[in-house]
Amino acid sequence: MFEIDTRCVHPSRCSRAAFGSITTPIFQAATFVHEDIGSESEYSYSRMQNPTRAALEARVAELEGGVDAVAFSSGMAAETALMNIFESSGHIISGDDLYGGTLRLFRHNAVSAGLRFDFTDTTAPENVRKKLRPDTKAVYLETPSNPTMQVTDIAAVAEIAHSVEALLIVDNTFLSPLFQRPLELGADIVVHSGTKYLGGHNDTLAGFVVVKTPELAEKMRYCAKTIGACLAPFDCFLLERGIKTLSVRLEKQAANAEKIAYWLRERPEVRKVYYIGFPDHPGYEVTKRQCSGFGGMLSMEVDSPETAREILKEVRLFQYAESLGGVDSLITYPMLQTHADVPEEERLKRGINDRFLRISVGIENADDLIEDLRAALEK
Ligand SMILES: *Cc1c(COP(=O)(O)O)cnc(C)c1O
Repeated sequence: MFEIDTRCVHPSRCSRAAFGSITTPIFQAATFVHEDIGSESEYSYSRMQNPTRAALEARVAELEGGVDAVAFSSGMAAETALMNIFESSGHIISGDDLYGGTLRLFRHNAVSAGLRFDFTDTTAPENVRKKLRPDTKAVYLETPSNPTMQVTDIAAVAEIAHSVEALLIVDNTFLSPLFQRPLELGADIVVHSGTKYLGGHNDTLAGFVVVKTPELAEKMRYCAKTIGACLAPFDCFLLERGIKTLSVRLEKQAANAEKIAYWLRERPEVRKVYYIGFPDHPGYEVTKRQCSGFGGMLSMEVDSPETAREILKEVRLFQYAESLGGVDSLITYPMLQTHADVPEEERLKRGINDRFLRISVGIENADDLIEDLRAALEK
């Protein structure tokens, strides 16, 4: 088997496209002809499957080491479909530092569908064990978490979840399979916002659920075709194109992020930098064990709300926008954007206050990015 950077470009499972095309053609078709009764072709209707989507899904499944991946129209569509495999009953233990939209799903929609949630700090795996119940169906976590970059030991939590036959689900959006492969560490399901590093250009929404077993694949396919939030052929094409450059993008983003993190740390206006590559990050040992890179994300707490607002106003290269993982560097104000729906008390407890900013580092020149931040801070 080739290394992962090779496989981003040349997945081993995909056969050559029609006419020897080097790229997967965009099969912009809603339906497919059957020659005769009893000789139905491989494809029937694009909500179920489409050749462009199938090629993308095979690629993502292979990169994550799963038996199947299902592509959705967004990360939230993927998560919503995933919640349907639990058939409206049961208990899920979830990490307490999550993407705001996931928290909204868990607190409102999934609960009204009959699931019950307990939230806990999964960075201490024992917390997960304490929340286990006989009807616990799954443990759900992000590592590193959004936006406070907390690291959870995937293998340790997998063992705890499996002790009651619960599934471990990991949102792998922040590091992507280039740097972290949760299924290899014991997780059963991986979720992605493909909008972020996999797409990589801030131009397409997408989501994935990757599963480890054929049984889970069957359940996921059933939910996907029923819910119908499938990824359109053109967007599948864009995602496939994005994945081909994942390794060069993310390697550069990670190198840039490291430089910026160390630079920010020395600034008098910055109180704290949340970055998993610091040797004094509480999750550093786990990160070294389970990841092959630190990624392109960091967050920081500055000295005053005025400084935070000044940065958002004054940056020129960085752009004040939601989202992450793309080639353009972005700064997000989680309090007003990604985490606006999280109850204030909880938000503040996790340090997501009016001085807290999240940075997604792009592929620009690191010194130019630092100069941009310097100019904004010194304004
Ligand atoms: C963005 C994001 C999501 C949601 O994905 P969309 O594609 O925006 O629907 C889920 N999890 C994480 C960690 C994210 O960053």
